[in-house]
Amino acid sequence: MEQLPYNDYGSTMRRKLGGRVQKLSIDAGFSCPNRDGKVGYNGCTFCLGEAFSPSYCREASTITQQIERALRFHSARDRRADYYLAYFQSNTNTYADVEHLEKLYFEALSHPAISGIIIGTRPDCITSDILQLLEHIAQSKYVAVEYGIESVYDATLSHVNRGHDFSAAINAVTQTKATGIDVGAHFILGFPNETTADIINGIHQINALGIDFIKFHQLQIYRNTPLEREWREHPERFMFSHDFDAETYATLLVDIIRRLDPRIAIERLASQAPRNLIAHSPLGGIRPHELREMVIAKMTGQNLRQGDLCAF
Ligand code: SF4
Repeated sequence: MEQLPYNDYGSTMRRKLGGRVQKLSIDAGFSCPNRDGKVGYNGCTFCLGEAFSPSYCREASTITQQIERALRFHSARDRRADYYLAYFQSNTNTYADVEHLEKLYFEALSHPAISGIIIGTRPDCITSDILQLLEHIAQSKYVAVEYGIESVYDATLSHVNRGHDFSAAINAVTQTKATGIDVGAHFILGFPNETTADIINGIHQINALGIDFIKFHQLQIYRNTPLEREWREHPERFMFSHDFDAETYATLLVDIIRRLDPRIAIERLASQAPRNLIAHSPLGGIRPHELREMVIAKMTGQNLRQGDLCAF
C-alpha cells in the first residue's frame, strides 16, 4: 500500500472498521435554517444547494432507493467496499425533531449493506437529544458527525452570511466528542479577505478543536450566487484572483498539512462541482485526484510529513 506523507482518511477508516469503506451520499430532504428564516433567509453567499448532491440522490426519492442507486453507481465504477456508510450530506441533516431524525437514520441503518451513518450538519444545529440518539446508535453501528465549520474567523463567517460564529463550532465539537462519536470538519480555503497567512495562522485553532477528520475545499464560485456578484465587483478581496493556480494551491495545502495535528485524518484536499455550475475555480481544469498527487509529490520529494511543523 502507498505510504502517504499525511494521515489519510481512507487508511484510518480501514483501520477503524477493518476493511475498505465507501460513503453513500443521501439527500434526506432536509432544509437549512439559514434559508428558511430560522437563522436567515438568504443562505451562505457561496452556497448552491444542487452542487452538493450526486445525481443518484436527485433521481431517487426514499433513502432506501438512494442507497440502492448509490450501490449500483459505485459498483458500475468498480468501487467495491467492505463497509458502506450512509452519508447524510445535503443541507442540514440534524434540522428536524429527534423522532423524525430517528426514523430517517434507522431507515438507512436497516439496509443490509449499511454499516453506519455519517451526519453532515451545521455547528448550531445539534442538541443533547440528537447527541443522545447518535450515542445510542453508536453502540452498535459506526457513527460520525461532520460539521461545516468553514472558517475559524468570525469576520469571515459573518461576511459570507454563515449565521453562526466559530464559538458555535467549538461547542458543537466539544459536546459531540464527549459522547465518543467521531467528529469531522469541513473548511473552505480562499474566502474573501482571508490571506494565505490568515489560513496558516488559523491551523492551531483547528488543531485545538480535537476533531478526528477534516476536509479542505478550495473556494469555488458558483454561478448566480451572491459570492459570484462579489467576485465580479471586488476581485481584489479574493486570494484566488491573481497569480493563483493549482500549483500555488498545492503549495498552500503542503504548508497547512505540515502544521496540522497528525492525529487528524485528511479526507479531502479539494472538491469538484459540475463545470456548468462554476463561474471560477482556482484549480482550473485540474481534478482533485491530480491535485492530491501534486501535494503527495511535493511532500515526499522534500521528505515532509503532516505535523512536522506542529507547535505542540
Ligand atoms: S452552505 Fe449549508 S448552511 Fe449554508 S445555506 Fe447552504 S445548505 Fe445552508
